[in-house]
Amino acid sequence: MNPATHFLTGWLIANVDHLERRDRALVTLAGVIPDADGLGILTGIASQDQGAGLYLYGQYHHVLAHNVFFGLLLAATGYAFSKKKGLTTFLVLLSFHIHLLGDILSGRGPDGTIWTISYLFPVLTDVQLSWSGQWELNAWPNVVITAAALLLTLYLAWRRGFSPVNIFSVKADQAVVAALRSRFPG
Ligand SMILES: [Zn+2]
Repeated sequence: MNPATHFLTGWLIANVDHLERRDRALVTLAGVIPDADGLGILTGIASQDQGAGLYLYGQYHHVLAHNVFFGLLLAATGYAFSKKKGLTTFLVLLSFHIHLLGDILSGRGPDGTIWTISYLFPVLTDVQLSWSGQWELNAWPNVVITAAALLLTLYLAWRRGFSPVNIFSVKADQAVVAALRSRFPG
């Protein structure tokens, strides 16, 4: 799945209960951060060596941050920084694993290659999770899932009074919610 879908899914998991702002942010980020190794490309561009960045991305995407040990690292971070520790740590782990599931369902490349998840990397590198029915990144199920997640996110923002913008700015978020509520008075 693309980062936007992962982000929205993480946000929805963060909203299954009434968590505080920071706890919601931790759960949401756990759903999207495994793909932050795309930053390798930016690093490559920054060092004017884009080829190396892309090479590293190709080699290590879905490996470095897509295994249970990275998930446990996220859980420990969630535990350290959250307020509702038990629930937030659990939801961080859930959010991370839903990301992996999303990739297993829909990570097929344009050339038909199936993405596999090295769940026990780097301890047992031959354990690979994959699904033969895996659809492509831009296939219609992803469009439907993304649209549904977006609608649910907007509904929650309208109803609860905060949107994912809240992670980055409380003030900007209030403007978003005010605009939503004036467009759809309830
Ligand atoms: Zn991923």
